[in-house]
Amino acid sequence: MRYIDPHIHMVSRTTDDYQRMAQAGCIAVTEPAFWAGFDRSSAQGFYDYYRQLTEYEPKRAAQFGIKHFTWLCINPKEADDPGFAREVIALIPDFLEKETVLGIGEIGLNKNTKNELIILEEQIALAEKYNQMVLVHTPHLEDKQKGTRIIMDAISASSIEPGRVLIDHVEEHTVSEVLDRGFWAGMTLYPDTKVTPQRAADIIEMFGTERLWMNSAGDWGCSDPLAVPKARLEMAKRGHSSETIDQVTFGNPQTFLGQSENFKLE
Ligand SMILES: [Zn+2]
Repeated sequence: MRYIDPHIHMVSRTTDDYQRMAQAGCIAVTEPAFWAGFDRSSAQGFYDYYRQLTEYEPKRAAQFGIKHFTWLCINPKEADDPGFAREVIALIPDFLEKETVLGIGEIGLNKNTKNELIILEEQIALAEKYNQMVLVHTPHLEDKQKGTRIIMDAISASSIEPGRVLIDHVEEHTVSEVLDRGFWAGMTLYPDTKVTPQRAADIIEMFGTERLWMNSAGDWGCSDPLAVPKARLEMAKRGHSSETIDQVTFGNPQTFLGQSENFKLE
């Protein structure tokens, strides 16, 4: 068996995690740019982070036969200071030349503030200008539905096709609207918050498998880099066919990500 974990923050994970993921069948990961758990003090901090994502991490993954791809942006958690955010955004175009970069992400909203929305729109414009795909972070908890709608409206106002955008961290109350508007949807599997493997299997049973994927979003917090293979087991236990399981954990991510010419598995 083989699978892709299309959203995981490997810079926060150990080399042992790469090894365990490879043993569980992981052949590729994609890593969106993210908040470090603390605010970086300068744009230079992002420059080094983007170098880590594009130069160092692919090599660490390759030791275990895992292909590593990345998405670049300033995360909504650090986007509430527009002056600072613009300094960081100015660094991104040079890095888009790197051969493992798939697009702009994970952009979105955190607390749905005015400044976050301004920076979101500027990063959508960046994706438009450089013809990049987009990976979207949606806010957690009670702001999710409202935030998801604001983000989808902002993208719909651009020329970016919804089929080149993945809206991540969907839950039962947001997934159908995301899919109905033509976007792709990602379910994030977390041990206690977000979606558990059981809830992910429920969502697939309710909404089908088209344009849907799952990821671990493993990071520096409580999270599980083996969440995707665990969800595969949960689906198998419920009697889903291996074709269905492969579709949501391999075929769908391959189809979506394959829209970037940089996404090559061989
Ligand atoms: Zn993330």
